[in-house]
Amino acid sequence: MNLLGLHHITAMASDPRANFDFYTRILGLRFIKKSVNQDDPGTYHLYYGDYAGSPGTALTFFPWPGLRRGRPGTGQAYATAFSIPAASLSFWQERLAKLSITTEPVATRFGDQVLTAFDPDGLRLELIATHEPDPRSPAPSKNVPEAHGIRGFHSSTLGLIDAQATATVMTKLMGYRLVGKEGLRARYTVAGGGPGSYVDLLTDPALPRGLNGAGTIHHVAFRTPTDASQSQAHSEITRTGLHISPIIDRAYFKSIYYREPAGVLFEIATDQPGFAIDEPLATLGTKLGLPPLLEPHRAEIEAALPPLVINP
Ligand code: ZN
Repeated sequence: MNLLGLHHITAMASDPRANFDFYTRILGLRFIKKSVNQDDPGTYHLYYGDYAGSPGTALTFFPWPGLRRGRPGTGQAYATAFSIPAASLSFWQERLAKLSITTEPVATRFGDQVLTAFDPDGLRLELIATHEPDPRSPAPSKNVPEAHGIRGFHSSTLGLIDAQATATVMTKLMGYRLVGKEGLRARYTVAGGGPGSYVDLLTDPALPRGLNGAGTIHHVAFRTPTDASQSQAHSEITRTGLHISPIIDRAYFKSIYYREPAGVLFEIATDQPGFAIDEPLATLGTKLGLPPLLEPHRAEIEAALPPLVINP
């Protein structure tokens, strides 16, 4: 299977305004797309990432106002980690403290310092001050200097009761390889490796069972370069007997979905065409983006969505 690393990660949220403020103003990500949940068009789908929303940078949300809080734990992508420069840890510690963001004491993981913080819905985020080179450019931000900006994803940590079946799917089917073990954590990578490629399997008996809701991850999407490589991946997954969705056109990429054996929802998404297909790169996030199937219903959809005035 031809996978290149993480593509995007999608989470559930409650209030869209609080979500927008946290990811743009506090974390300094760019708001790259205002769209709708294609399976529930009365709900937004909000995307944050680097300037272009490049694969490997986009954290996306389904915000349902009033949604009850979930609980990160097993059977879920437990934590989502961003890559920051090794020298930027103290900047983020001071910034998050000044803004009264809940954090945990800094930990060390595979030699890197990790600052854990929580978004307004309690989503577990990690800033990993990595010693590895990460040439990706952060989103331009009025709030976070370029030297300290988030480079994109570092890794996704899956919470598992038993990692064996998941590890088998990742290595035998998806082409991932084990690169390190530390305590109850095993790290896997794919293709060229490095920040943005990692998936950690965490089998910590202290983890509660995950409950879906605001502040938890809905699915983790992996990059595949082309429609052809996605079609190939679809055939390979079908042959294993795992249940797999048809190929779905999400406008900004094409997607297939399957659940790995521990219950975490995986997606494989194409790198193309990206977020500039329905508005210019310079003004991403300003117009409500709708897939062609929903475009005829634009007026009703816009009227039904809660107001969300974007003035970054
Ligand atoms: Zn997705």
